[in-house]
Amino acid sequence: MGNLADQVLKGETRAAARLMRLLDDEIPQAFDELKLLYPQTGRARIIGITGSPGSGKSTLTNRLIAGFRARGQSVGVVAIDPTSPFSGGAILGDRIRMQDHEADPGVFVRSLATRGNLGGLSRSTRNVVHVMDAMGKDIVIIETVGVGQDEVDIVGTAHTSLVVLVPGMGDDIQAIKAGILEIADVFVLNKADRDGVDRSEREIRMMIELGGVDPDGWKPPVARTVALRNEGIDELLEFIDGHQAWMADRGELAKRQKRAVEATYWESVKAELLGLAERRTRELGLIEQMFPESGEPLDPYTAAEQVVASLMGELENGAT
Ligand code: GDP
Repeated sequence: MGNLADQVLKGETRAAARLMRLLDDEIPQAFDELKLLYPQTGRARIIGITGSPGSGKSTLTNRLIAGFRARGQSVGVVAIDPTSPFSGGAILGDRIRMQDHEADPGVFVRSLATRGNLGGLSRSTRNVVHVMDAMGKDIVIIETVGVGQDEVDIVGTAHTSLVVLVPGMGDDIQAIKAGILEIADVFVLNKADRDGVDRSEREIRMMIELGGVDPDGWKPPVARTVALRNEGIDELLEFIDGHQAWMADRGELAKRQKRAVEATYWESVKAELLGLAERRTRELGLIEQMFPESGEPLDPYTAAEQVVASLMGELENGAT
């Protein structure tokens, strides 16, 4: 016990990848390792990137990685693809995304797809972020494929959230309505080589004003980038730095870290309880009782009450 955690703390990539797989499979011992690592987390700066497919998030992520590496910072990337039910897809994703930084030991990329595990995508993401943080990555980038609710929620838990838009937004206006405005700490207007970039920037700034700017709050800046040609990346890095400095000054970083701990707690509670309930449901044969070959079927409401009552009884009797 603790071997894997030791290796992860030394920054060993293989051990980290192994632990992430075990966590994904909900192996209880893997969580014991994670508990050992936990006190060593909290140092990494977490950056979330969301935006419509094709807006240039992957290209931008690669440029940001290069930017952070040039400053001597190590980088972990969690690439989230909730649409892909196949881990094979995730592995392919790793390969494509890693290309630019494949040989660099200071960069660690991990793809995640929903696999119907207990805590869902947000819990898996948090586990991976914690492992990367503990292994000493200075920056952890959470990159999503699209702007689905899960993805927006996850990116919203980062320290600094980037929302990527492109000129001639159309679809993106919809995305902004869907709650993206609230999570954006920095807007990235990528593909600034395209027509309509001035107008799009005006529209974004107008939306920020309409959203109501708190005079003491953070006003999201708009970075123009051409990720394809590596243009505007330095300015974007400055905006990210600016946001992080602002957060540190205002105690906002501590607030966000506290929120993340609470979220981790609730996700773990849900996963633990659901795990117990699944086991007990099987033991009591409740699903079978809902679909009997003959006689009155058990209704799902009563079945849910029964499984909870059964677990409560177990607790009261002091058994585990
Ligand atoms: P993602 O789906 O958001 O990750 O987008 P990608 O990074 O895969 O980029 C989608 C396409 O846009 C690719 O063909 C990129 O080469 C291209 N692209 C990325 N950045 C820019 C840019 O700044 N300008 C232009 N014209 N194309 C870009």
